[in-house]
Amino acid sequence: MPQLLHTKRMLLTGLWVWMLVGAAGTGGEARADVLAEIARLFPASPRSYAQASELLRDIDSASALLSRESLGQSHQGRDIWLATVTDPNYPSDGKIRLFIIARQHGTEYAGTTAALGLLEHLARAPAGVERELLRHFEISVVSIANPDGAVGGRRTNGKHVDLNRDWGKFSQPETRAIQAAICARRPHAVVDLHELPANSSKRSYRENFVETIGAHDSLSQILCDNTVASSRNIAHWMSKYSYPLSVYYDYPGDSLTMCHRYWGLSQGLPSFLCESKTGGARSLQQRAGFHVLAILGIINYLGRQQLGPAPVAVAIAEETPAGSPQPLCRPLQLSLRLEPHTSADGAQVVVCTEVEGEGSFGFVTVRVNGVTKALTNQRKGRYLLDADTLTLKQHHIAADICDEYGTVLASQQTTLSLPLADLQVAQ
Ligand SMILES: [Zn+2]
Repeated sequence: MPQLLHTKRMLLTGLWVWMLVGAAGTGGEARADVLAEIARLFPASPRSYAQASELLRDIDSASALLSRESLGQSHQGRDIWLATVTDPNYPSDGKIRLFIIARQHGTEYAGTTAALGLLEHLARAPAGVERELLRHFEISVVSIANPDGAVGGRRTNGKHVDLNRDWGKFSQPETRAIQAAICARRPHAVVDLHELPANSSKRSYRENFVETIGAHDSLSQILCDNTVASSRNIAHWMSKYSYPLSVYYDYPGDSLTMCHRYWGLSQGLPSFLCESKTGGARSLQQRAGFHVLAILGIINYLGRQQLGPAPVAVAIAEETPAGSPQPLCRPLQLSLRLEPHTSADGAQVVVCTEVEGEGSFGFVTVRVNGVTKALTNQRKGRYLLDADTLTLKQHHIAADICDEYGTVLASQQTTLSLPLADLQVAQ
């Protein structure tokens, strides 16, 4: 049966699958759920800058796997700590390097909580898959990029500058120090962890999202393959843990003053902005779990891409090899609808997608004039078309339901005819 073969292939190639999903559904293998293990290390309330610095110092002195250094001082003279976790018994040359930045905005705690939990878990791993992971990976983490904002309880740094609008300008000591560290380490990917405000009128701010670089002819194919495949991988794992997720894609021409766009669009590094939504019933633990899953999704993809499934399977099987059995067809249908929307920015259009029918899926993508703009792992998706993209008289809008490997299960398309005043949708 194709579905059984498909499942078996995942088991053979995906040690991290076992780690992530735990024993359930893996034939009774007693494997830990790595997210649950890391979540047990999350504190009940956010750590202060002093507490976070102290924790890193303690792990550094207790573990040979973690090293800590100051990258320099913030505007107000506080150390910007970088912690690196890896197995030092293996040469750094061939390792996959990941660089994680948290809390450029001082009030966004969940990224720091996630980063410290991940570091602590990996640094205290005496054996097992985590130790195997550290043989192949070097993970560098700035858990508080904005110490002044963290201490002062504000978004900006000690000079009242928004650090995540300072990339490329490098007017602040914090962005300069982190840039130098990234250049020195030449990571395979950069991850920047943030939080979304509880209340926002922006539609794209209503749920957790990841923003990364979309596939574009003027960018290197390796870069785009990494960002697109990793973002799909993240969406897949978020679904497994019931996290709603949207992914938005950036393209040449977008402002480069944000960290992930600077490294992705200007420097050609796969880079990811991860935003967990605050407010409602979303606890610090739940929000930090979102960031851990996003990081693991990227690690999984990089591991599989660089190392392959053998000798160590640190990745999930995110692609269906050519010629191998496809998953069973699922009776899924996609509805695609356009709604006019008026906001302070002017007239806009919401692309509404809805997956109907039984069966599971990986994600739904939205394409505008052939360019993939977003994906969601939710049955109902709403993507807002920016007004400045609507310059043509007619726009081709398409959406696909895909399985977790990107195989298209169902498609729908429509034409958006302008002017918007008499929005016409031709099926
Ligand atoms: Zn932020």
